[in-house]
Amino acid sequence: MGVFERAKAASGLSEGADETAPYVCLACGAPHEVQYHRCPDCESFDIRCARWVEE
Ligand SMILES: [Zn+2]
Repeated sequence: MGVFERAKAASGLSEGADETAPYVCLACGAPHEVQYHRCPDCESFDIRCARWVEE
């Protein structure tokens, strides 16, 4: 585990140790740290877990 990952773990943000944000807007592709009900960028409701989208 590198210094960067350790810092993320200490801050409580590390679940899967991924570089990408946990959620993504399917409409505009914007990454989000939290699962918005509505995308603040394009106002779409298609916010999904980034992990599901990738697979
Ligand atoms: Zn969007």
